[in-house]
Amino acid sequence: MKKLIFLFIIFVVSSLNGSILQLHNNTSISIEDTISYFEDKQGLLTYQQADSKLFIPYIQEQSVNFGFTDSVYWFKIDLCNYSSTLDTHWWMKIDYPLLERIDMYLIEPNGKLIKHSRMGTSQPFNSREIRSHNFIAELPLKNIANATLLIRVKTQSSMQLPISIFSSENLIEEIEQSNFFVGLYYGIFFIVLLYNIVLFIYTFDHNYLRYILFIVSFILWQISFDGIGIKYIWGDTRWLIEHGSSAFIALSAFSALYFSRHFLNTSFYSPKIDKIIIAIMFISFGLVIFSSVLPYGKMIPFNTSLALTIPIILLISGLAVMRHKYRAARFYVAGWSSLLIATLIFAFNKFDLIPSFYGVNHVQQIGSAIEMIFLSLALADRVYLLQREYIEKLNLLNDTLSEKVNIALNEARKKDRLFVQQSRLAAMGEMIEQIAHQWRQPLNTLALINQDMYVKYKLGKCDGECFDQSHNRIDEHLQYLSKTIDDFRNFYKTDKSKSLEDVGNLAADALRLSDVFLKYAKIRTHLDVSTTRKVNIAKNEMIQVLMNLIKNAHDAIIEQGMKDGNIVINVEDIGSDVKVTVDDNAGGIAPSLMDNIFNIYFTTKDPDHGTGIGLHMSKYIIEESFGGKISVENFANGARFIIVLPAEKSNEMKNISEGV
Ligand code: ADP
Repeated sequence: MKKLIFLFIIFVVSSLNGSILQLHNNTSISIEDTISYFEDKQGLLTYQQADSKLFIPYIQEQSVNFGFTDSVYWFKIDLCNYSSTLDTHWWMKIDYPLLERIDMYLIEPNGKLIKHSRMGTSQPFNSREIRSHNFIAELPLKNIANATLLIRVKTQSSMQLPISIFSSENLIEEIEQSNFFVGLYYGIFFIVLLYNIVLFIYTFDHNYLRYILFIVSFILWQISFDGIGIKYIWGDTRWLIEHGSSAFIALSAFSALYFSRHFLNTSFYSPKIDKIIIAIMFISFGLVIFSSVLPYGKMIPFNTSLALTIPIILLISGLAVMRHKYRAARFYVAGWSSLLIATLIFAFNKFDLIPSFYGVNHVQQIGSAIEMIFLSLALADRVYLLQREYIEKLNLLNDTLSEKVNIALNEARKKDRLFVQQSRLAAMGEMIEQIAHQWRQPLNTLALINQDMYVKYKLGKCDGECFDQSHNRIDEHLQYLSKTIDDFRNFYKTDKSKSLEDVGNLAADALRLSDVFLKYAKIRTHLDVSTTRKVNIAKNEMIQVLMNLIKNAHDAIIEQGMKDGNIVINVEDIGSDVKVTVDDNAGGIAPSLMDNIFNIYFTTKDPDHGTGIGLHMSKYIIEESFGGKISVENFANGARFIIVLPAEKSNEMKNISEGV
């Protein structure tokens, strides 16, 4: 920034004695009023021709600066070397790294050329006498008391010559100081850059990315101006030497605007300023493109004006946004203010409005470093504010969330209670239905026994034995009914007491319990038991299952209107299992129904007779409760239900498996 703003200023502190520069031992000497110039419009003169021309003393206060010009300028300094007999080496340093072509001629009073040195950005970096970002050349003045230093300059940049002459010791001191300052300056930038990269990775806030773009383009601008770029980074790359400095000014302007617009949220806080910023952003972007192709000399006036305008615009934007109590804008304003203040100090000093002090020449660089630090703080503050906002929102959200969760939880609990109630009711309903189903037959049987007993009694055929018989059968059925209730109650409990049972016996029980309605329908039954192996099951549940199957066979036989209905139950041992089959001769089950008959509520009977629960419940008992398997198939002229139950190991088998 400083170099552009003070493009027209040269800084020299001089030791003046008439118009001849006196070189005393071990001093650093700046030139003022000892320098004279000559404008060579065509640029065709040789140094001898130029030397003979009339040079005009440069009498302005401080700066050798002729602005932008196509002419060649010749500068002349007459030297008087008081240390010629001593072993002092003298050096000339030109502190403006953008000059393209410098020819230095050291000439004795008799016209003899002592040295010709060619410098400037048009020359390879490695050809420099001292590989510095500035131009340094030795003045071999040993045993030469008087000499003329003639310097020819041709440049697209502004025609200025901040020249100093040093003894070796002073030069080293100067280079050390300069290196220290360069290190410090770029060190600060590097830290700020790193800090913002880390914050970007951490927060993923795009403002950091925009700010990083700004820092990088600003650094590129600075290093292209002070020769650090050529020295350390891009060497002799022509495009960067010729276009870099002007393109990077425009890029810095663009990125500063781009960053500021988003950071200050000008579209929200100040739409008018936002429009201005957008317009200048477009101009800056255009200047980046043009600067990349057009000559430096043509673009630099535009870019310089841009660079001068930007800090002012951004400062105004910051102040405008600050009015809206946007806290982070305070650091932002402090940042740009520090740069402007530094610029003003530098300017006032150069115009002698404030006295010189140590570091005044670097005050602008210090200003830009402070600016970067302030902008980083502004960003950090913004992130802090955002974080606070998020936390507040999060807390609010958490509060309402826990409230919502509580409400939802209560509702869910209510629903759960309702569901439990409903499922209980459903289960009870199912149970009642099953009990009714199971009771229908025994009740019919009881009714039949009762009727049978009554008729016999009326006919005088019911003696004591007949009464006892009927009484016992009624009792047996009543017990069954009572058991059924218990069984159903147990059926809905997970814990159903099992014991080792002989399935053949249970099948006989089931047949006996079904005896009344089977006899009534004149259905013949046959039980074939070929094993006594026990299975671990709940007795009543097994009887229920078998009764279900017998009842279904009975219903199918009735439905088919068969006269010779027949039910055969077979119990046999098949290896590790006991197999029970219940066959009938009622024509079997239609293949289309086969897949559905175990489904709950599947029935082909009318609602008074069928519920569709029997087989479903049987499957549940056999498979879930007993760990067995129930299936159905059609065989011969009827249906066959097959139950396979895991048998208890026989003693013999136990002995074999236990290796006795
Ligand atoms: P429900 O007896 O109340 O109809 P089930 O679950 O016991 O309910 O039987 C379901 C259906 O399976 C019966 O409606 C019937 O169509 C069919 N079914 C069961 N056993 C037989 C069988 N032995 N012969 C023909 N169809 C049968």
